[in-house]
This record gives sequence, C-alpha cells and structure tokens, in this order.
Amino acid sequence: MTVPQFKLMFDAGRGSSKLTEVPRLLLTHGHLDHSSGVPYFISQRCLRRLPAADIFCPPELEDPLRKILQLWCEIEHYQMDYNLQPIDYDQLYPLQGSFFFKAVRTVHRVPSNGYVILEKTRKLKEEFKHLAGPEIARLKHERDDLFYEALRPTITFSGDTQIEFVLENEIVRQSKILFLECTYVSEDRPVERARKWGHTHLDEIAANAEAFRDVEHLFLIHFSPRYRNDVIRAALRKKLPDWLHEKTTPFLLS
Ligand SMILES: [Zn+2]
Ligand SMILES: [Zn+2]
Repeated sequence: MTVPQFKLMFDAGRGSSKLTEVPRLLLTHGHLDHSSGVPYFISQRCLRRLPAADIFCPPELEDPLRKILQLWCEIEHYQMDYNLQPIDYDQLYPLQGSFFFKAVRTVHRVPSNGYVILEKTRKLKEEFKHLAGPEIARLKHERDDLFYEALRPTITFSGDTQIEFVLENEIVRQSKILFLECTYVSEDRPVERARKWGHTHLDEIAANAEAFRDVEHLFLIHFSPRYRNDVIRAALRKKLPDWLHEKTTPFLLS
C-alpha cells in the first residue's frame, strides 16, 4: 500500500511496476505475500537509474534479506543498489516537514513491525489556555515557553498481527487512521485458529470495540481470499457495533 503524500509504501506485496517510483519501503515482515516484491522493486529502480531506495525492516530480517538480494544480484549479473536499514524501535525517522515515522513491534509468527506516521505539533500549555488570542499573541513576543511539543499519531499500518498490537499500544489506539489486518471474519475459522497463525479475527475486534473509540477511521485489510466480498461486508455489519461500523472500511479485492 502506498502513501504518495509521504513518498512511501508499506510492504511490496508480490511486486508491481506501479511501485517503482516510490523511494521508501517500510517492510513489516518477511512473509512472501508482503515481501516477494522487494527484489523486483529494487531491480526496477536500478534499471531506471533511480536513487537507491530506503528500505526499513525488522532487525532479524536484515541478514536473510541481504543474502537473498545478493543471490538475485548474482542471477542478474548486476550489483543492485539499495539502502537496507534494520529498524531502531526507539527512533523517530523523518519523513517531510513536521511528519515522522516509527516502528512498533507486532505479535506475529515471525519478527514483524507495524508502522506509525506521526505529526509533531506545538500545543498551548494548560496554564495559558484561559487567555484570549491577543494576549497570547503579545506573550509570544515576551517568552518562549508558551507551547510544548506533542506527537500526534496520524496513520498506523499494522502489517500482520494479533489483536495485542492494538490492545497493548496506546499510540496505535490514538491513531487518526488505522489500517488493521483482519484475516478471518467467520466461525469456520475460529479465534483460536486466527491467533495460532498470528492473525486477527473480526470477533476480537468486535469484542474489543472500545479500544477503537479514538480512531477516526478504521480500514480493515488482509482478508483471507476464502471470503467473497459480500460475506465480508455482511459480517462487518452484523458483528461490529453501529458506531464502529460507520467508521470502518474494508479493503476488498474487486
Ligand atoms: Zn505474515
Ligand atoms: Zn500476510
């Protein structure tokens, strides 16, 4: 999925020539439905002589990825250029202007990241909030301690995860826009099975609906291909409370 505004994409899927011009890849994990497009992406950028892509990944994935990319270089008889960076979970990485991103570990069967895009904002300190606009404007000239810096989570992308990614991370629950995996929606694949494979079941989202109060828009992704679109839509309508259903959009394959 790409976010053109920030010149980045989350995962590379199976690869597509449409992704070639996106210079930044935030890779969640190594499962092939998320990462098999990486060599193709890098190779296409090299072919078009575009600058080396910045690729971020879970630290455990760095060595195996370098090995596989080196093998592709040998196969292609061409040294591909790329900038692979194991993520530092304590770091805020700059995007543009006042926007940054950070990685949050997810709960999956393999090392896996979710990513949060944050905006740095300046907020008026509590003790000055009672003042009128002109007074604040005047004080701004006199002192530089009227505001404090706050980080507002704007977009979160979960990659593959169990529901704990939401329940254990306030930064995720505070995100304006949340892309959350929801692999299973019906009883034929029960919650225990979803959890065994490191995924989220719609029943868990419904059971933990309160965790999504502050999210302004919830996009559900990564539905199992076993489900028809009308089955997914009907399950969302039936299982989610109305207030949550209204702000939820399923990402469906046409
Ligand atoms: Zn996975
Ligand atoms: Zn997956």
